[in-house]
Amino acid sequence: MKMQSQYVFGTVCSIDLFEGGTEELYALLFNRLNLIEKKFSVNLSDSEISYVNENASSGEVLVSREFFDVLKFSVEFAQKSGGAFNPALGSLINLWGIGTEHQRIPAENEIEEAKKHCDFNAITLREADEGCFVSFADDKLRVDLGGIVKGYAADELVKLLKERGVTKAVINLGGNIYAFGSKSDKPDEKWNIGIKNPLKVDAEPIVILEVNSTSVVTSGNYERFFMEDGVRYHHIIDGKTGYPAENDLASVTVVNESSIFCDAMATACFVAGTEAEFVRNKGGTGAVQLIFVTKNGKIVKK
Ligand code: FAD
Ligand code: MG
Repeated sequence: MKMQSQYVFGTVCSIDLFEGGTEELYALLFNRLNLIEKKFSVNLSDSEISYVNENASSGEVLVSREFFDVLKFSVEFAQKSGGAFNPALGSLINLWGIGTEHQRIPAENEIEEAKKHCDFNAITLREADEGCFVSFADDKLRVDLGGIVKGYAADELVKLLKERGVTKAVINLGGNIYAFGSKSDKPDEKWNIGIKNPLKVDAEPIVILEVNSTSVVTSGNYERFFMEDGVRYHHIIDGKTGYPAENDLASVTVVNESSIFCDAMATACFVAGTEAEFVRNKGGTGAVQLIFVTKNGKIVKK
């Protein structure tokens, strides 16, 4: 059955199972994506993340194992990246509202105020026999996992595919790609994954990667942004300044078999730039490839 697409996570999500694709399997995979969205979407008032954001500062809240694990990964990644990736930026992200109907340039004092409530160390995670718990030591702290959940979701789909004995698939969750398995029996024949030209998104890809069994995730300033007085305000926020991350980068692509790692890493690299310590040591994971595209179109591979 040919490739199927659905609108999930506010973006187009496509899955291609090639000759292994059945209606039942596609339904299973999209159902999984929809369940993940229902849990992690800050746009849904009845999601688990909204419940946590509303209640975790009043005392510990019991959360699902799944929510706990993704938040824990996020907090650990925040520590590792010196806060470049920060799951506690909800107040700032909401203030800017980039990609929403209320997007605007906030006043300086609003940014300063929101910045005070973005400390990921104010998130406490506790695992006990009775379950998993989360609490916030700040009543204005809000978590936002938009920079990591598509990666988590791609890994979850791959898990399901493995359980079902599927040997190849290409998953694309709004630019968060997983090329699962090998394209063919011939070892030289690999999946071609294009990296968009961030300076000219409708043009040919700026780089084509040949890969098997890996995730390829890109963060950039060209998908969600608005322009005002010639300045581009995009959706990846630097918690240290309170403004959209500003350096010489237009996009960062991360290649590794863990899509949740790639997603967090791409966002973190975009904020921290090429020279940050954790970027130079590739987030502590040896088998990772980084491709930076600068604002003047230079491609830097590490
Ligand atoms: P990434 O770089 O991976 O992530 C950027 C996003 O991460 C930002 O949009 C923000 O949410 C967050 N972020 C910003 N700065 C940082 C930082 N320094 N550290 C950590 N995180 C940061 N979009 C809609 O328009 N409507 C929807 O209903 C909608 N629902 C969604 C539901 C879920 C569960 C998810 C995961 C996403 C949803 N989105 C929705 C899309 C979302 O707003 C982002 O556009 C998307 O997740 C960003 O992915 P990316 O690959 O473009 O960028
Ligand atoms: Mg990301």
